[in-house]
Amino acid sequence: MIARTGAEHLKSLQDGRAVYIDGERVADVTVHPAFRNACRSVAALYDFQARPENLELMTFEPNGANRRINRGWQMPRSYAELVVRRKALQAWAALSCGFFGRSPDHLSSSFVGQRMGLEVFRRHGAARAKALADYFDYASRNDLFVSYVIINPQAERAKDWGQQAEGLVARIVDEDSLGITIRGAKLLGTAAVMANEILVANMQPLKPGEEDLAFSCALPMNARGMRVLSRKSYEAHAVSVFDNPLSARFDENDALIYFDDVKVPWDRIFVHRDTDMCRAQFHDTPGHVYQNYQAQIRLSVKLNFLAGLARRVTESIGTTKIPSVAEQLGYLAAQVGMVNAMLSGMEASGSQAGEWYVPNKHYMYAAQVVTQELYPRVVQAVRDLAGGALIMLPSSARDFADPELEAIIRTTQRSASMEPEQKVKFLKAAWDAVGSEFGSRHLQYEMFYAGARFVTAGHSFRTFDWQHAAGLVDDLLASYTLADGLDELRN
Ligand SMILES: Cc1cc2nc3c(=O)[nH]c(=O)nc-3n(C[C@H](O)[C@H](O)[C@H](O)COP(=O)(O)OP(=O)(O)OC[C@H]3O[C@@H](n4cnc5c(N)ncnc54)[C@H](O)[C@@H]3O)c2cc1C
Repeated sequence: MIARTGAEHLKSLQDGRAVYIDGERVADVTVHPAFRNACRSVAALYDFQARPENLELMTFEPNGANRRINRGWQMPRSYAELVVRRKALQAWAALSCGFFGRSPDHLSSSFVGQRMGLEVFRRHGAARAKALADYFDYASRNDLFVSYVIINPQAERAKDWGQQAEGLVARIVDEDSLGITIRGAKLLGTAAVMANEILVANMQPLKPGEEDLAFSCALPMNARGMRVLSRKSYEAHAVSVFDNPLSARFDENDALIYFDDVKVPWDRIFVHRDTDMCRAQFHDTPGHVYQNYQAQIRLSVKLNFLAGLARRVTESIGTTKIPSVAEQLGYLAAQVGMVNAMLSGMEASGSQAGEWYVPNKHYMYAAQVVTQELYPRVVQAVRDLAGGALIMLPSSARDFADPELEAIIRTTQRSASMEPEQKVKFLKAAWDAVGSEFGSRHLQYEMFYAGARFVTAGHSFRTFDWQHAAGLVDDLLASYTLADGLDELRN
């Protein structure tokens, strides 16, 4: 095979992983009604990249490899290479209208950044750096889908992580010559159900004394003792693709991962009992920048989709040309344009980190802070433009199968720009995006995937060029004195 295909990916998921939903263990996620469509949508990503006409756009051939792999694994050396890579990520995001938050290019981006900062791991220990470099080669050469859990369960947030109840937060409970044993939980394994591997790490700050919690490793999804507890499946509750085109196909799932004495071999351990290294893994390497730069690429696709949705909403109810509605659309377009521009800005004003090119850190954090507040407002704008049209729709596609009901639908679902069937189809898609349980989960996702506001704003605070900004103020103040003022008043 020239590149990983959908069939290859689906087969790789049939590995005996312990996934649970609705009180039962799932025998095969690729055929279970809670996950099968999302698994197929992920498979479609790989099929897309493997099409001969997309190979150059989506994949590259690393040195010494015998097959092409997704450009998410590419380590750009220049702005031009970053842009080539971004186009592949944009093309993948477009296939789910930006609704796959943790598509495979999220973690490949994180690993690209971490691999660029291998020196940081070397300072932590030669064996840990070798583990990271070898894992990067293994995961990238096989074009694996990796997800991650880097957050702890919210139990008593006012207490330190080390003070939480026994068995809650995943920690090292044993270690020997073969590796470490971990027990406890990690959140929030988005897409873990349909991934090959999972990175387990600590993004939340740890304190000295919390070394048992201070580790990072990668595990296959069928690791012995690892249990994947899925949340409610929106896919399983979708009525049909016509009724719920997004939830029926792009419910990437979120899961609690419980480690029931899971043994991790040393060659898969990247951070070992070092609280500061848990931070450094992401923040002293370009790991955090790269993973969240990918998130902004995806989000810009999604926001463009939502702007398109808003426009079509107004067309479906014939309001586009009303001046105040056009103004609302223009304002929305400006907000989406701002996000597109921030993306271009973080690329164009990136910098070299040794031989690698890294997007601008502060612009990326600025985009995070701005977009986690913007997303709810964009959703609100779509709802505001729509009124009751989003709600007053046939209960399901089945209503069209009854000739009498169909006649009423065709009479009542009128539009200046759409046929009744088209209008119903569109408005159901719009509701799925902004109002359904799936849509509501996405609101929570965009508000929190990168951390709560106090976290993202903290990154922005830390990385802004205060010296330059405050210097402008200092320059102004240096341009006059009290003596100058007194002279001025005397004359
Ligand atoms: C849909 C979804 C998907 C996700 N997917 C993933 C994933 O794939 N992998 C992963 O690892 N994580 C994932 N996450 C987790 C995500 O990273 C966290 O939700 C995020 O970091 C916030 O952490 P938290 O949920 O513990 O909230 P908290 O940090 O507890 O914050 C919740 C609220 O509590 C308050 N608060 C708590 N602590 C403080 C404080 N110190 N100062 C001020 N206010 C405070 C604030 O009001 C804050 O908004 C996902 C989350 C969601 C919602």
